[in-house]
Amino acid sequence: MTQFTDLNLNEKLLRALKAEGYTSPTPIQAQAIPYLTTGRDLLGIAQTGTGKTAAFALPILEKLMNDPKPTPRRGCRALILSPTRELAGQIHESFRSYGKFTKLTSEVVYGGVPIGRQFRALNNGVDVLVATPGRLLDLVNQRAVHLGDVEVLVLDEADHMLDLGFIIDIRKLVGMTPSKRQTMLFSATMPKDIAELASAFLRDPARVEVTPVATTAERVEQQIIFVDTAHKQALLHKLMEDPTIDRALVFTRTKHGADKVVKRLEEIGVRASAIHGNKSQPQRERALADFKAGKLRLLIATDIAARGIDVDNVSHVINFDLPNMPESYVHRIGRTARAGATGIAISFCDREEHNFLRAIERTTRQQIPVVENPLGSGLGMPPQPRVKGAPSTEKPRTTRSGKPVWQRDRPEKKRFDGPRPAGDGSSAPRRDDQSRPAQHARPARQDTNEPRRWSSGTTNPTAERNEKPAREGTVQRNRRFGR
Ligand code: AMP
Repeated sequence: MTQFTDLNLNEKLLRALKAEGYTSPTPIQAQAIPYLTTGRDLLGIAQTGTGKTAAFALPILEKLMNDPKPTPRRGCRALILSPTRELAGQIHESFRSYGKFTKLTSEVVYGGVPIGRQFRALNNGVDVLVATPGRLLDLVNQRAVHLGDVEVLVLDEADHMLDLGFIIDIRKLVGMTPSKRQTMLFSATMPKDIAELASAFLRDPARVEVTPVATTAERVEQQIIFVDTAHKQALLHKLMEDPTIDRALVFTRTKHGADKVVKRLEEIGVRASAIHGNKSQPQRERALADFKAGKLRLLIATDIAARGIDVDNVSHVINFDLPNMPESYVHRIGRTARAGATGIAISFCDREEHNFLRAIERTTRQQIPVVENPLGSGLGMPPQPRVKGAPSTEKPRTTRSGKPVWQRDRPEKKRFDGPRPAGDGSSAPRRDDQSRPAQHARPARQDTNEPRRWSSGTTNPTAERNEKPAREGTVQRNRRFGR
């Protein structure tokens, strides 16, 4: 197995890695670093959680150290473009950690705060600049910074940048950098528009691919609970009775939804906070810090706010709402499987979300095990068989008039009856470990190598996102990594 010492890295970097507690390179690091230290361009297909930040940060620090130069006035030698301020902040933190025994300097600029301080901070130039595209373009237009001295350019989470509509800004910014530069592009997925971007910006790139979409999904133990929309909050409250859920990320589709969930959790005394684009930067930072420090049991997030959030030891990811894009599902559940760890992802699925579930299962090539709804065994069950050709074992419970339960004329009270006996028409797996509460009973793993068996069902992966990207714009003090 490759060791960091095999990668020809400076002793100051090796010391920093040791201080971080890293013992050996992750696959993306082992594969990418040898290309990057020889100056090659790189196309990296990897998502957050694979160690990709160090994969580009270490060779950049190595290169800047080996060729010491004064920082260019109002310029930078390495530029990293990131889609969100959270990710930009974390990349900057990584550069500071890995470069803490060097004399190199860094800055991060992103939106949401006054631009004035950023002029002063960039005046003397920096070695490494991490930026979100919109705010960087503002700074360039106001002549606070120029990109004519960029030697290394990184486009991180390129697919996410395109999703957020940054393509024009990115093209403009890349056009301002010298054509003689080293370029790296990282993306979790490789759709056609990313491939086009790569061929426009990269020169004879080495291609490195790790953790294809399905692999992350396989590392996480996943569960689906069918539930009516109206019972989702009650279901979340029920799950809170499980003490093993001690640090969970809960995903909602909308910002408003996130706030509502927090408010109702607070009413039952669960420590929770929301993180999304309507929160101010200090509010987001505080929520994240409290969550990392274990002061919050739950962090409620929307997809955009959560991309790139790097918190270790997330015990569970709970999808309060299923995402309409399968890739978002994979990104979400990946939060609980950081750096090789495993975790549990519980997804609530209401009637409106059955098509999203099908799309997710097609993409991940897995059938997600169904766990009985602890609020009531028939609530929210899907009306059709989930697998082509298989007899439907998931018959919806019907009222006396023959309608599915969710269409009943008058609501009936539901209560938790515990696991249903076998052969009663429920598809919910039986609890195999009676000592554990139903809500986290782990059903036997399904064979993930099964061929895809979904037949019908329209998917709607292109449905609109409900959230706009967070506004950008801040800078942290120009500081040496080591201080
Ligand atoms: P990234 O994909 O860059 O966001 O990294 C995901 C997580 O993996 C971060 O918490 C890193 O600190 C951690 N990490 C990166 N490289 C290693 C490594 N070689 N060994 C252990 N953890 C690592």
